[in-house]
Amino acid sequence: MSAGAAGVDLAALKALHRRLDGCTACPKVVGPVVHGPALDTDVFVLGQAPGPREGAIGRPFAWTAGKTLFSWLEAHCGAGEARVRERLYFAAVARCFPGKAKGGGDRPPSKDEAARCRTWLEQEVELIRPALVIPIGALAIAQVLGGPRPLAEVVGTSHRVKWLGHRCDVVPLPHPSGASTWHRMEPGKTLLEKALALLAAHPAWKRSVVGDKRD
Ligand code: SF4
Repeated sequence: MSAGAAGVDLAALKALHRRLDGCTACPKVVGPVVHGPALDTDVFVLGQAPGPREGAIGRPFAWTAGKTLFSWLEAHCGAGEARVRERLYFAAVARCFPGKAKGGGDRPPSKDEAARCRTWLEQEVELIRPALVIPIGALAIAQVLGGPRPLAEVVGTSHRVKWLGHRCDVVPLPHPSGASTWHRMEPGKTLLEKALALLAAHPAWKRSVVGDKRD
């Protein structure tokens, strides 16, 4: 086992990524599979699904929603995009771009697609054993906390839960998509600031993201 300071077996995680990269379980998604790199960290981001650009770039949150997300974290949590990408593990409810919806926006992953992709999440959580999980957007929040629940009920609060058999703290964020106005209007604006303050104050964030070393 090649575990680092956070205890993540990176060889096992890389082997999992190689299997995940070849996944073709969902016939209706556009793909390709997108995920962050294998990292020795205990802070775990759960997004919804890649958009149409992330597949070609090969990174989650690589387009406009990502710019907004990283600007929030830089302004409130003491870490810019490069640092965040080095220190946070990025997963998602679905790893493949689902395609466009009939109305023209991005299609959210279906229940079946989320259920299939959850089998990958279960394996990732088992290897990473996150202390802090950050679900982003209503679909990811529902995966971790159950629901759907109104964003105003869950954003701005820290939740201690057992997720996929593992006990962790959960600090949800709204989706930074340009199509969403929730985080730009009250009470969303204030609740987002509360959530970012909770992240910045969390011991795992301070130790793993801002600090230079783990204790
Ligand atoms: S969305 Fe997940 S389960 Fe479906 S094909 Fe992509 S990686 Fe596989």
